[in-house]
Amino acid sequence: MDNAKRRVVVLPCSGIGKAYGALSREIAYELAERVRPEKIAMTCLPLLVINDPDAVRLVKENPVITIDGCPRECAKKSLEAAGGEASHACQTIKFFMAHKDLKPEGVTQLNEAGLKLAKLAAEELAQTVDRLAAGEKQ
Ligand code: SF4
Repeated sequence: MDNAKRRVVVLPCSGIGKAYGALSREIAYELAERVRPEKIAMTCLPLLVINDPDAVRLVKENPVITIDGCPRECAKKSLEAAGGEASHACQTIKFFMAHKDLKPEGVTQLNEAGLKLAKLAAEELAQTVDRLAAGEKQ
């Protein structure tokens, strides 16, 4: 694929009922809406689970970053079950471990610390997005 047209797919887990799952979605929104809107594509995780052809094509034709809220790694495993492979996989706890003053709380709406942590995490992931969008392998 022409690198100029390449998008990086960000795939957060659904994370219902868990602050670290809510954090995974918030990081993805930060990347897609504020940090790298011109380079990011997103799809719903359940579309991969039901083998939706457009969603499967998207993750097979573009590099994918999975963001999971816990060690169960639902986003990474759903991607693999659909025949894709993560170019970069991360769990949100890693961002908290690097910024322990920002403890995410809340499941439908993250607290202020969680929102700040999502912004920082998205900015940290931006370099990975840039490398993948340029065609580099991780
Ligand atoms: S990875 Fe963890 S937080 Fe995310 S959807 Fe799966 S069980 Fe929930």
